[in-house]
Amino acid sequence: MAGAPQRIAIIGAGQTGGQAAYSLRLAGHEGAITLIGDEPAPPYQRPPLSKAYFKGEMEAERLFLKPLEYYAEHNIDLLTGRAAKAIHLAAKQVVLEGAAPVAWDKLLIATGARPRKLTLHGADLKGVTELRTLADVDRLKILAAPGARMVVVGAGYIGLEAAAVGAQLGLKVTVLEAMPQVLSRVAGPEIGAFYTHIHRAAGTDIRLGARLEHFEGEGQVTGVRLAGGEVIPADLVLVGVGVVPNVELALEAGLVCGNGIVVDGDMCTSHPDVFAAGDVAWRPLVHYGREGRLESVHNAIEGGKIAAAAMLGLPAPALEVPWFWSDQFDLKLQTAGLWTGADQTVVRGDPQTRAFAVFYLKEGRLIAVDAVNSAPEFIVGRKLVASKARVAPGELADKSLSMKDIGARALS
Ligand code: FAD
Ligand code: NAP
Repeated sequence: MAGAPQRIAIIGAGQTGGQAAYSLRLAGHEGAITLIGDEPAPPYQRPPLSKAYFKGEMEAERLFLKPLEYYAEHNIDLLTGRAAKAIHLAAKQVVLEGAAPVAWDKLLIATGARPRKLTLHGADLKGVTELRTLADVDRLKILAAPGARMVVVGAGYIGLEAAAVGAQLGLKVTVLEAMPQVLSRVAGPEIGAFYTHIHRAAGTDIRLGARLEHFEGEGQVTGVRLAGGEVIPADLVLVGVGVVPNVELALEAGLVCGNGIVVDGDMCTSHPDVFAAGDVAWRPLVHYGREGRLESVHNAIEGGKIAAAAMLGLPAPALEVPWFWSDQFDLKLQTAGLWTGADQTVVRGDPQTRAFAVFYLKEGRLIAVDAVNSAPEFIVGRKLVASKARVAPGELADKSLSMKDIGARALS
């Protein structure tokens, strides 16, 4: 490829870093690719960690994005168990722990995010865990024996997915959420109320507006003390209170960072030869006319592909509306778009049937949809969100109209 960079280094061998490496080779890049990851495993998908893998229904190898042989076969130098320690922009090198520096012509930072820590007394007791990596779940699985008392702190995706598996494994589960609603960061109150009901019906004690005081125990956690004095007994505590982006390497190198590494539409940072994508990137959200940081598989794959194309000087792939999913019990929640800023919500279907959707509108235009066990609502809703369609709320709520017809009318 004429004028193409020779050496490309990628820091972070996760969903984004792996995707970028595959896309580079797929696009015909013939130069060196060094993929640097501090975890022992090759790039793997995280979603099953809080679902099928935690439940014991999936082997670790099935998490891998590509079989181990793929990397040698495609001449990708995969360095696992190796942390990047510094980025030297002037010398164009990545400094590694315990190995020679890696030289690059173009660099992608795909260092992801790490779980936010609680600073409460007792947060370092044995049995207080987080859930981000394969190693975290392997530890969690040992603690999660049937009958064990699991306290989950945070009712976001991690907390609720793990609580669902815990209940299915026969654990006694309590969920402590600081906000008055579960899933408050990612969905509206209708979805929050529905999932609270579902988890309570499965026997889980969901506490909203919970205020934690500290963790109790000597060496091993034995309980969680709430403001007001109540102590909830615990054999294990899973903390899922959000993530912080791993920006430190970029920040120390002098790249512009805020709540993430600031990038443009090509995923290019404030240095023209350095790119960032995935959970760590603060990127333009073109469908919403603002910038933000997304934490999803779709964002990781899209960002990895965009960065790979930009590094090779190729046209950017088409952008999609952000989308997400969550599996809890027999329920598949599929989300298209970002609901923040909605001024109207429309519920389609009856939540009691365990199949319904919530549409979020802003100034009459559809900005997001949450679909529970409702594939047509998600598929058509995604198209409508992408085209910022005006849809009559009465039509969206009318189950006698098919989503196909609603979509065709709104897009005509
Ligand atoms: P990461 O996956 O965090 O990968 C970054 C990698 O870089 C990590 O391996 C990290 O250890 C490594 N790294 C960091 N610093 C360095 C360094 N200095 N040197 C070398 N390596 C470094 N999203 C969905 O859309 N749907 C889901 O159902 C879903 N379920 C999830 C379940 C769980 C339990 C978790 C944790 C996440 C889930 N997500 C889900 C979110 C999704 O997995 C993430 O958004 C995605 O993994 C982000 O990919 P990434 O490559 O940007 O970051
Ligand atoms: P999250 O979605 O940010 O949810 C964390 C929840 O914990 C929030 O509701 C938060 O409330 C609450 N919280 C914060 N501090 C608390 C405290 N001291 N006590 C009680 N509750 C508290 O993050 P997450 O669930 O930890 O997930 C981590 C990452 O994994 C995210 O990137 C997420 O997207 C990803 N993930 C995704 C999926 C999926 O897409 N299906 C599944 C699992 C994980 P506030 O709003 O007040 O902070």
